[in-house]
Amino acid sequence: MIDARQSNDDNPTRLDVVYDHLNTSDDARERLAKAKLAFHVNIPVRMDDGSLRTFEGWRVQYDDTRGPTKGGIRFHPQVTAEEVTSLSFWMTIKCAVVDLPFGGAKGGVNVDPKSLSRLELERLSRGYIRAVYDVVGPDRDIPAPDVNTNATIMGWMADEYAQIERRQVPAVITGKPLGLGGSEGRVAATGRGALQVLNIWAKREGKSPEDLTVAVQGFGNAGYHFARLAHEAGYKIVAVSDSKGAIYSDEGLDPEPIWRHKHKTRKLKGMVYCDASVCEEAAFDTLTNDELLELDVDILVLAALENVITKDNASKLKAAAILEIANGPVNFEADETLEDKGIAVLPDVLVNSGGVIVSYLEWVQNRSGDYWPQDVVEKRLAERLDREAEACFQLAADKKVSFRTAAYIQGIGRIAEAMGQRGTASYFGEQDGRKSA
Ligand code: NAD
Repeated sequence: MIDARQSNDDNPTRLDVVYDHLNTSDDARERLAKAKLAFHVNIPVRMDDGSLRTFEGWRVQYDDTRGPTKGGIRFHPQVTAEEVTSLSFWMTIKCAVVDLPFGGAKGGVNVDPKSLSRLELERLSRGYIRAVYDVVGPDRDIPAPDVNTNATIMGWMADEYAQIERRQVPAVITGKPLGLGGSEGRVAATGRGALQVLNIWAKREGKSPEDLTVAVQGFGNAGYHFARLAHEAGYKIVAVSDSKGAIYSDEGLDPEPIWRHKHKTRKLKGMVYCDASVCEEAAFDTLTNDELLELDVDILVLAALENVITKDNASKLKAAAILEIANGPVNFEADETLEDKGIAVLPDVLVNSGGVIVSYLEWVQNRSGDYWPQDVVEKRLAERLDREAEACFQLAADKKVSFRTAAYIQGIGRIAEAMGQRGTASYFGEQDGRKSA
């Protein structure tokens, strides 16, 4: 289980450090200690063999002070109420870090989607929307894809919502296919945003892409688009991995032909390397997933899962900096070890926010009916991330805190400010000597 708040009676939490830097009211602390709504459903699905199976699912809306809640839906056999709650908390922080007018939510279904036929998957996706219909909506809570869900599933879900409402409501879900109101630029948005945050950090460190070697754990949607764009920008990608293993080349890898090969063969290994029209067997070294994490590179990119770096392996890392594209890949205890070792961690709530920023732009386009070309979407993404990432790095420098703490100060500060504008303890009168804002 992951615990975004890392609450534990014996230890200071990530949030304690943040609140120490924020002169905020106790109201914010109290409200952000628990999710606003946790909706638990059981979804009956007719299977292809005629039997009926029930799948457990959740939708958790953590906080909606700054706007309707926003967050993906995950289909995974290890999804639990606790995991969905932690992820919904991170979404709350993330939306505020990049100043979107959204609160945070997350959804999940406990299922191994690979064990379902395509029709069963469609029935489950539509069943999920029927189950959570009462709590979602374009002004209330807007789902999106997450692990093991994609544009096709978002299309089925948006269609199910439209059938219940008996009208088109594309803004109820983002990450839809283009023909159903999706946005240009959404597919690569998370990788593109992560690269932009890395570029801003590198520039502040006085380094250029050509000076930096990169290893990427997780060669899926987010990791691949990051690697492709980073390679184009001049970074040297020396290793990539998926759940089955890793490949390495001292000379650097070109992610694009590797991606095409992986999609044809389902394998990273035994690579056929294609340069223009010439294809040849490439002699890439293979590594285990653990060996990739311990490579002596400038940047280690974590784009697979949560809880990858823990106190057990943090001391073995040799990278100069970590770019968190996955949600929660470095746990609380590992954070402390990495800080002691001087390894900079560029945090998930900032680094992977490109996805939710373009989801926001999709929601805006759906509501206005005005659809923008890819360059307009990318320009808006870049402007917002530039502003918010620079502010975050500057905050870290000014307050002499980690980038993660700075991002949390930026996000929670905005949420607390909005809460304060609705009235806090000081507005209603000090009670029992409690702090006011
Ligand atoms: P994905 O399913 O497309 O890709 C995940 C990749 O990780 C796959 O290549 C898989 O083989 C690999 N992987 C799994 N276990 C591994 C292991 N032990 N070692 C190495 N590789 C392993 O998922 P995605 O959409 O790319 O998301 C990846 C992470 O980024 C998730 O944590 C997700 O929550 C986060 N994220 C994604 C987006 C987005 O827009 N895609 C946005 C924000 C956050």
